Amino acid sequence: MNHFQRRDGELFAEEVPLAALAAAHGTPLYVYSTATLTRHWKVLEGSLRGLRHLTCYAVKANSSLAVLSLLARLGAGFDIVSGGELYRVRKAGGDPRKVVFSGVGKRDDEVAFALEAGVRVLDVESAEELARVSIVARRLGKRAPVALRVNPDVDPRTHPYISTGLKGNKFGVPVEEALRLYALAARDRALRIRGVAMHIGSQVTELAPFLDAIARMRGLVDELRRQGIAVGHLDIGGGLGIPYEESEEPPHPDAYGAAVKKALRGFGGEVLLEPGRLLVGNAGVLVTRVLYRKRNGRKRFVVVDAGMNDLVRPAMYGAFHAIEPVGPPAAAEITCDVVGPICESGDFLARGRRLPEPEAGDLLCVRSAGAYGFAMSSQYNARPRAAEVLVDRDRVLLARRREAYPDLVRGESARPRPRRFGPRRGLR
Ligand SMILES: *Cc1c(COP(=O)(O)O)cnc(C)c1O
Repeated sequence: MNHFQRRDGELFAEEVPLAALAAAHGTPLYVYSTATLTRHWKVLEGSLRGLRHLTCYAVKANSSLAVLSLLARLGAGFDIVSGGELYRVRKAGGDPRKVVFSGVGKRDDEVAFALEAGVRVLDVESAEELARVSIVARRLGKRAPVALRVNPDVDPRTHPYISTGLKGNKFGVPVEEALRLYALAARDRALRIRGVAMHIGSQVTELAPFLDAIARMRGLVDELRRQGIAVGHLDIGGGLGIPYEESEEPPHPDAYGAAVKKALRGFGGEVLLEPGRLLVGNAGVLVTRVLYRKRNGRKRFVVVDAGMNDLVRPAMYGAFHAIEPVGPPAAAEITCDVVGPICESGDFLARGRRLPEPEAGDLLCVRSAGAYGFAMSSQYNARPRAAEVLVDRDRVLLARRREAYPDLVRGESARPRPRRFGPRRGLR
């Protein structure tokens, strides 16, 4: 359920017509719904009632301050993958003690930033990283709270680019190596073992891979406890999929919550979760304007003002996004590719799609764009990034103003005679 519904033929975001938002803020425009995001949060939390847990929203799915701030007010923790995401979480009023720092390539400065901020745990992904975290912690006179991200070697049966829990992925350490690393960490006074972590992939549309992976992690937790290593939490990651098409039926969060609770019965610790897409995916849409229609041979194209720089998922994963007119749909339908203005043949939002025939100037709504939409956008082709608004009933927050041309060159210089480079002038 989301709050982007039609009223008298017109698409609304809660109580505000999308057309009015486009008129006020231009296109392409990301529109998020407070009620939808809040509802997704409450449904997931409801499904976990009775389980000692902390839900840490995966910031990379949508790191807009307005979204982070809303989630922080709902009580969320945060799963971050960079120092920049920690900066954003703090700017949005998030509590660092509820932050999990994931990611396969943390730099020393990022580890130090996280330790100074007092994050809950760093999820370590290799022997070398464990050693670096220890060195940085000692340098700061701190004990680093750590968990190992373990690769459970299960196939989440999702797109290969978003599958992370299989042997041969770059993520995590194998179960066998984890035992050895935990023993090392237990003897290191600069480290404090907090728990065990996993994350098997994204847009997972079955429960079985989660349950297989949890079962393997419980085996590891039992073994660690036999060896006298305290495991305070088990982080089961994120990855639950959402329906992008009406025909898709990923497990409902209620089914997920019930299965997770059952699989974790008797665990006797805290459970961490890291959902991203599930919370924000269907809480956002991308509004774009039709520029032209054209035919090349037998193919019909609808050229819109949003490109792969605004929403890369179709180009990158061949992902499907439902597209519909913002205004009353025309009676006649066409089959077309919906393409952007970027100079790449991979620049499309939809291929071979049936649509009510649009005209130049019409607005289209690209659904399920709240996750990995704006967050993955770029300025490719020197296109200023889109604006973002957050709707709350009849109120509208401009969460991020549209970039202007000067934003494209901020921080750049093109001096004809650069300064001499060397120790005298210091490294610049
Ligand atoms: C990306 C990511 C998530 C969130 O994945 P979703 O599919 O958006 O739920 C959670 N944990 C980690 C470590 C991630 O990298």
